[in-house]
Amino acid sequence: MTAQTSVIGFPRIGKNRELKFASEKFFKGEITEAELQDTAKAIRRYGWEKQREAGIGFVASNDFSFYDNMLDTAFLLGAVPERYTALNLNPIETYFAAAHGYQGAKGDVKALPMKKWFNTNYHYIVPELGAATKIALAENAKPVAEFVEAKKLGINTVPNLIGIYTFLRLSTYTDNKKAADFAADAVSAYVQLAENLAKSGAEWISFSEPALVFDVQADEKQLFKSIYSEIVAQIKRKTSLKIALQTYFGDIRDVYADVCSLGFDAIGLDFVEGKKSLELVKSGFPKNTLLLAGIVNGKNIWRANYADKLAIIKELANVVDAGGIVVSTSCSLLHVPYTTASEAALSDDIKKHFAFAEEKLTELADIASGNASALAANRELFATRRTVESAAVQKALASLTDADFVRLPAFAEREKIQHERFALPLFPTTTIGSFPQTKEVRANRALFKKGSISKEQYIEFNKKKIAECIATQEEIGLDVLVHGEFERNDMVEYFGGLMDGFLFTQNAWVQSYGTRCVKPPVVWADVTRRQSMTVDWIVYAQSCTKKTVKGMLTGPVTILNWSFPREDVSLKEQAWQIALAIRDEVIDLEKNGIRIIQIDEAALREKLPLRRSDWHTEYLDWAIPAFRLVHAKVKPETQIHTHMCYSEFNDIISDIDAMDADVITFEASRSDLKILDALKASNFKTEVGPGVYDIHSPRVPSVAEISDALHKMLTKVPQYKLWVNPDCGLKTRGETETKASLKNLVEAAKQLRKEVKG
Ligand code: GLN
Ligand code: ZN
Repeated sequence: MTAQTSVIGFPRIGKNRELKFASEKFFKGEITEAELQDTAKAIRRYGWEKQREAGIGFVASNDFSFYDNMLDTAFLLGAVPERYTALNLNPIETYFAAAHGYQGAKGDVKALPMKKWFNTNYHYIVPELGAATKIALAENAKPVAEFVEAKKLGINTVPNLIGIYTFLRLSTYTDNKKAADFAADAVSAYVQLAENLAKSGAEWISFSEPALVFDVQADEKQLFKSIYSEIVAQIKRKTSLKIALQTYFGDIRDVYADVCSLGFDAIGLDFVEGKKSLELVKSGFPKNTLLLAGIVNGKNIWRANYADKLAIIKELANVVDAGGIVVSTSCSLLHVPYTTASEAALSDDIKKHFAFAEEKLTELADIASGNASALAANRELFATRRTVESAAVQKALASLTDADFVRLPAFAEREKIQHERFALPLFPTTTIGSFPQTKEVRANRALFKKGSISKEQYIEFNKKKIAECIATQEEIGLDVLVHGEFERNDMVEYFGGLMDGFLFTQNAWVQSYGTRCVKPPVVWADVTRRQSMTVDWIVYAQSCTKKTVKGMLTGPVTILNWSFPREDVSLKEQAWQIALAIRDEVIDLEKNGIRIIQIDEAALREKLPLRRSDWHTEYLDWAIPAFRLVHAKVKPETQIHTHMCYSEFNDIISDIDAMDADVITFEASRSDLKILDALKASNFKTEVGPGVYDIHSPRVPSVAEISDALHKMLTKVPQYKLWVNPDCGLKTRGETETKASLKNLVEAAKQLRKEVKG
């Protein structure tokens, strides 16, 4: 058999992050817009040609973006807030103004907000719709331009659009108008766009509707149905285009029957993350319809097991018309790096287990063609997968009992013991961990890594920085001090590099937001701690002061969520393995006289499943225990802190409390204070430090401003549970503004102490 193949999106940053560098030059005025456009064109061409070479049948266009596809869609539909168009900039500058904000001769506006794209580490720009929004198709529509561009290269692509339902579902609404009020105009705009595409020679149009994998409520379902019955009817009437509905990041159990009855020519389903997709298709699939079967994982970097994938196809073939199955990736390849060919430092023995975007194209072709030698080679590969178990880790995991997850005595008693031990003033002041990473700090690490300075020189420099940092904090008057994290480039990479089981790549960048990329480590084998990872630094910092220095670690869930996980072992097991390694470090710190230990879980919320019904069973039921495992063994008088970079945890607030830390600090300065109501309502036991100022901005908050935030907090949080701190680490800030801000923070806490004592 030879099935067809499809890909709904390809990486778009450039193999060597050309788009990032070109955009940065453009903003600095070092290159012209035409030069930036040329870079973009070359990137698109590269992706299309790679797909053609691999023989992919359905190649997407409009998957490129200068910043983000949701933002592109807002511009396509004319849904751009007036404050940006009123700047009277040229089109691309207006676009970037909405993406990053604009401060210059023509005005001063902030960027549109950004949010996590489903359960990925990619962030989209949240469109804003209001009474003034007039939805209408933009001139020179990007999807048409990019379709034509590909056609000139001889590739007839499938223009892929973010569907209206997803667009409206993810937008914010500034006044009484709701999603449904914009649907009719959006449908007209898309129908007109479809006509233009058809005139340009398109045969297909594809609508991405990932929002269908959320829980879909009755009114939302109604909206979805009304949008698509209209779109399908009108496009069919006015053009001969075929229409695909594409879904990903889960299954569409709530609307599957409707999707099947709406008359699409192709339906894309995710068989990797969609637990129920197979079952749904088995319940019936419309005649004369293509099934875009997302069976190759678009989100992870491991080779596909062809035998497993073919088994799925075989089951599908019982239901779907012969020739109707199109072998596809589970989602856009935006979420994986370009190619393993860029990893010169990894051995072939390791690399052969990886498939990045370009290798996945070959996988699609192999699976679709049933190529016998490729199947045999793949079978061989999986049979010889290096065994990656560590007997010690396996034994430690097997011998865990409930007691390993329960810290004793219970919270209230520990709180008493710790208050006595630390004798801190009311409203203790502290920071989140990192201090400004100046040029010298980064240069020191870089020189050491290159081998240009000795280990002694490297350590010497950092110790000097630590001593200075402690002295600064004493001068500022903070109560609980930190060492400053000068040895860390990144809170996950640092620990990954010191544990066995992680691999690092040189070039495996994936987009996080805009043109910014991250390079996640790979969990390759069972994870173990080689040696103590932070003890020397923290102990040295503690030796510089009589005040308490808190140790600083990254938690297991965050380390896992910001890595590419293994696929041969459950996420739960990987998290618990990392937890055991971090637990060793916690115990080590305690043994070495460290009295407060912070275990950051900055990314705990990131992998919360998209459907509420899965939150506990699929995630929280192992993620929260992973954190408890890390600290359950410490003494009652050792104080455990944790930190999260957001405050949207109203809906999982009891789970956060169940982490059983003694103190939690989190971002609160930018959000409204709803979180405080939730803390109160849930009778939150953990002591809290809601961030009193936003560290993402260089401005120095005044004493009055901080004091004001604290007063608000005090209306909801009991005095004796309130800590005072910034909302995240200070590493991206300058030294001068940091010192000024922290001085104001300490002053505000002092004033408040006086005030409450009367
Ligand atoms: N301790 C880390 C720091 O201060 C926490 C970083 C984070 O929350 N992202 O930098
Ligand atoms: Zn943070």
